[in-house]
Amino acid sequence: MTRDPSPVPPLPPVAPRLLDWFDAHRRDLPWRADRDPYRIWVSEVMLQQTTVAAVVPYFHRFVAAFPTVAALAAADEQRVLKLWEGLGYYRRARHLHAAAKRLVAGHGGALPDDPAAWLALPGVGRYIQGAVLSQAFDRRLPIVEANSLRVLARLFGYRGDPREGAGKAWVWAAAEAVLPAERAGDFNQALMELGALVCTPAKPACDRCPLAAACVANRDALQEQIPPPKKQPVVTEVSEVGVVVRRGGKVLLCRRPADAGRWQNMWEVPHAERLAGEPLAESAVRVARALTGLAVTPGAEVATIRHSVTRFRITLAVVGATAPRGAFAPGAYAEAKWVTPDELADYPVSAPQRKLMTHLASGGA
Ligand code: SF4
Repeated sequence: MTRDPSPVPPLPPVAPRLLDWFDAHRRDLPWRADRDPYRIWVSEVMLQQTTVAAVVPYFHRFVAAFPTVAALAAADEQRVLKLWEGLGYYRRARHLHAAAKRLVAGHGGALPDDPAAWLALPGVGRYIQGAVLSQAFDRRLPIVEANSLRVLARLFGYRGDPREGAGKAWVWAAAEAVLPAERAGDFNQALMELGALVCTPAKPACDRCPLAAACVANRDALQEQIPPPKKQPVVTEVSEVGVVVRRGGKVLLCRRPADAGRWQNMWEVPHAERLAGEPLAESAVRVARALTGLAVTPGAEVATIRHSVTRFRITLAVVGATAPRGAFAPGAYAEAKWVTPDELADYPVSAPQRKLMTHLASGGA
């Protein structure tokens, strides 16, 4: 059961000082050039769990390929995924694409100034709703993300964990309480910008912060304690085997099914977890047969790729193999293609698979 948030204590008005600071220090970012709700929406979806520096080139490429919501709605999903490749969290791209189709079907391609319509779209929660509508239409809607959460917790001296349970409800109430009646979109961006540039996780620059005089954490020297550190998940080591199956000069590339747990509809060489103590060659034969139906003859290990997915630290040992005959059997994968090493760059793949494919395309065995 969700408890009521703790009441947000009154503060001296902070909006005028923060907005003045933002006007003087805001970064010149490509989605800030105008108030186009489509560009703001794309940028906000990309920015979730990703840095501004990483997003900028992706944003330019994406809006050049799909300059309007109608263009995005009409796009092939593989192209959308390809343009997202490397940003991670691919479900966000698939939701963005699905939402664009709904906006074209239900709103004639317009992005409505209507909070309820936004919340009904795939992938849109309270954050995206508030970010787009406050920035594009100046709706007085709050936002909370990692940067503003840290600023608000310190500003009010909130001692609980604002990422969880009652703390989450508290931080949304605080974000709403500080919002001014006008320039809500600029204020939301200013909070995030202050968190990114001044109120940083370690060693915040309180001496040049426009909110220093009102800030409880600054007054009580609690910057290092607020917010409390994130709970670190226990890391689990996983060993996987991947198989580069060759026939002639081509490699077998498989598409994950639409209902896969992650990387839906993206491409890869077949891979799966190794059994404890299983020799690598046996593992490769077993995995290739189970995932593709092909009987392969294993060769040497061609690469070792280390990567992390959530709390799992994965070591992927990749074995070269041949399968001169036999047909691919769909099941574990939706489909497969035999492609030349040069063609590997054309398919949307996950970051670890891209590492492997770059290695193969550069002549790696
Ligand atoms: S005074 Fe310091 S802790 Fe408080 S909001 Fe500003 S930078 Fe953050």
